[in-house]
Amino acid sequence: MEEAARKPLRDERPRFLLREMRSACASSPNMWKWTLPAWAGKMDADGRNYNTCPSAGICKDLCFARHGTFKIPSTRQAHQRNLRYVMDDLAGWEQQLTEELHHRRYQRPKTYCRIHDSGDFYSPEYLHAWLRIIRAHPAITFYAYTKQIAEFKEIVCPDPPPNFHWRFSYGGIQDHLIEPGDPHVDVFPTNAALEEAGYTSQEPSDLLAIYAPETLGIPANNHRHLKKRQGAHTFRALQRAADEKAAQPRAKRRGPASTRPGTKRST
Ligand code: SF4
Repeated sequence: MEEAARKPLRDERPRFLLREMRSACASSPNMWKWTLPAWAGKMDADGRNYNTCPSAGICKDLCFARHGTFKIPSTRQAHQRNLRYVMDDLAGWEQQLTEELHHRRYQRPKTYCRIHDSGDFYSPEYLHAWLRIIRAHPAITFYAYTKQIAEFKEIVCPDPPPNFHWRFSYGGIQDHLIEPGDPHVDVFPTNAALEEAGYTSQEPSDLLAIYAPETLGIPANNHRHLKKRQGAHTFRALQRAADEKAAQPRAKRRGPASTRPGTKRST
């Protein structure tokens, strides 16, 4: 798209970057969130490609944030506007959010900020910007689910800000890096299935991402076609099966030559 046809960025910047969390699992009045578009696509405004979830695996085919209310045009536009801001002017975004968090609405006791309703820490620069923001506001508790396991183990884990809590999230191409003892979350087909596996359900409060034991479970979102696609499996099991399939030699994956359609049996 022609540069002149692009809307000036400054006009697109909202006064407040964070939105109040209003979903059923927002159990505290002081919960705020920052959201990017889920996974990959093209910007409606200028046709640029993006990928906010570079370590997404099977989750991208079961992602609630690619369906339902996330597809409402105004919601989609708002999320893409957020992403354009961080992609085009990361320093300006960091400064605005750092200043915004001094506003009185974030000064109440027990204020929480969930980083990413959807999307992930898609680059080290973006992750470092968040770490600086978090350190600048020690009275606010920040939390996130992430599939960027390697980046967190390298960048965050050695010296984490005390007011930042994260959980590794199964269903991504870095699942194999999640170690015993790492706080994590898995998506189960039902609440009964997660309880049977000894997991704590996140349903009563998203703040269980912070306070629950290391094994947190989320029951599958209520999209009928996604539930059907997930079947009786967890994201962790589906990703493991996908990884095993990908690791098989190509010929083996395709099956014996003699049984493939169109191949003649040699005698
Ligand atoms: S990482 Fe999260 S937001 Fe991204 S595609 Fe997977 S489930 Fe969706």
